[in-house]
Amino acid sequence: MTAMVIKVTKSFTFDAAHFLPNHKGKCASMHGHTYRLEVTVVRENGNLMDVGSDEGMVVDFYDLKAIVTTEVIDKMDHKVLNEVLPFRTTAENMAAHIFSVLTDKLQSSGVLVEKIKLWETPDSYVEVCLE
Ligand SMILES: [Zn+2]
Repeated sequence: MTAMVIKVTKSFTFDAAHFLPNHKGKCASMHGHTYRLEVTVVRENGNLMDVGSDEGMVVDFYDLKAIVTTEVIDKMDHKVLNEVLPFRTTAENMAAHIFSVLTDKLQSSGVLVEKIKLWETPDSYVEVCLE
C-alpha cells in the first residue's frame, strides 16, 4: 500500500483589533480584521486511533474545536490583541504563538499540530508548519 499521512483540519473565524507600533504604513493605527484560522493536525504515527471512542479518527473534531476555542478563540475574539498578546501582533507572530500553544495542549494525546494557517484578510495568510 502507498504510504500516506491522514490529516484533519478545522477552521475558525474571529474578529479582533490591533495596531503595529513603528509600522511605516496604515497598520500603525488601530484597525480590525476578521481573522480566519485553520488548524491542521496529525497523529504522531501519521495514522488513526485504533481503540476507544476516537477509533478511526485522527482526533475527534469536537475535541479539537473545544481546545482551539478555549486556548485561542476565547482569548482573541473581540479583543484588542495588543492588550492580550505579549508580542508585536503580526499575523506571523500570532500564527507561531498559536502553533506553540496548541502543540503544548495536544502533544500528550499523541496529536501533533502539522500546520497553522492564519488569514489576516481574505487574500493574505501566514503558515507555520511542522518542520
Ligand atoms: Zn492589521
